[in-house]
Amino acid sequence: MSGYNAKERFIRSLEGKKVDKVPVCSVTQTGVVELMELTGSKWPQAHYDPGMMASLAIAGHEIAGLEAVRFPFCTTVIAETLGCTFDEGSIDTQPYQLDFPCKTKEDAENLSLPSNLAECRRIKIMLQAAEIIKNTISDDIPLIAGMIGPAAIAFYLSGAKNYLRWCITEPELLKHLMKLGTEVCIEYSNMLFEKGVDAVVIIDSEAGPDILPPPLFTELVLPEYHLLTAAMKGHSILHICGDATDILESMAESGFEGLSVEERTDLSYAKSVVGERACLIGNVSPAATLLSRSRDQIKKEAKQCIDDGAGILAPGCGIAPRTPVENIKAFVSARDEYYEEK
Ligand SMILES: [Zn+2]
Repeated sequence: MSGYNAKERFIRSLEGKKVDKVPVCSVTQTGVVELMELTGSKWPQAHYDPGMMASLAIAGHEIAGLEAVRFPFCTTVIAETLGCTFDEGSIDTQPYQLDFPCKTKEDAENLSLPSNLAECRRIKIMLQAAEIIKNTISDDIPLIAGMIGPAAIAFYLSGAKNYLRWCITEPELLKHLMKLGTEVCIEYSNMLFEKGVDAVVIIDSEAGPDILPPPLFTELVLPEYHLLTAAMKGHSILHICGDATDILESMAESGFEGLSVEERTDLSYAKSVVGERACLIGNVSPAATLLSRSRDQIKKEAKQCIDDGAGILAPGCGIAPRTPVENIKAFVSARDEYYEEK
């Protein structure tokens, strides 16, 4: 059972097949300041320049040792494409939202999608970055792209207040925005798969119980996930921030091959619910552990995740920009030690 390369191991894990050891990577953001300084590809420019995006993403694998290349580093590509505006952020802060297009019900009803997604500025940058990465890395390293999902898209488009209000008063309207979101995710994912991306991570924390009541998840979001995963022509992962415990059963039936959860979701409990229906990904705390704890403690928690049922060992959410590269290396080497100690 040995002799798998990183890509084979990653894909086999998502497909629920046996592997010699669990892959260790990040399906969430990997840009850290140390890597930005080493490569010269710094935020905020690396969000908007395909060459810089590629070199910073590749450094997560080549320098920090993660067994995948993962891009981009923000969650604003689709939202900006659909009319939201953002501040670019800084070297160690993500871009943040300034404004959104759906102030009123009428705005939401009349929102239309751009006619040619591939030509939209931010999406074009992503497609160019995918090409550069594919031409640079060896073919045995998996390439992972992230994008927000239908609920997050509805949230960004309508603003937090409208989203929370409309999920009670205007669920049909929210559903309409989520449907537009699903359409965009399908088209955009498939463009990325065509460029050689191996897996797309749908980041949809606004569908999670911290924000949306679980019955609304089942009613509004789950059908969108079924449509989305049926139409995605490549490997699919769902990432939900916060405590996803109450929707684990639905997540397991959503059609996503990988389920990435934060440390607030208990991994061994998640494994008992999800079983073999999907590959659990996670869930060492990026802030409490990877950023701040000792390397021994990082390794201990990483090994515990494997014991708890992680099919892919990964941080629970995006890596904090000030995380030392040595901590990420310790996280990666924990996986090797785990199997040596067996
Ligand atoms: Zn997260």
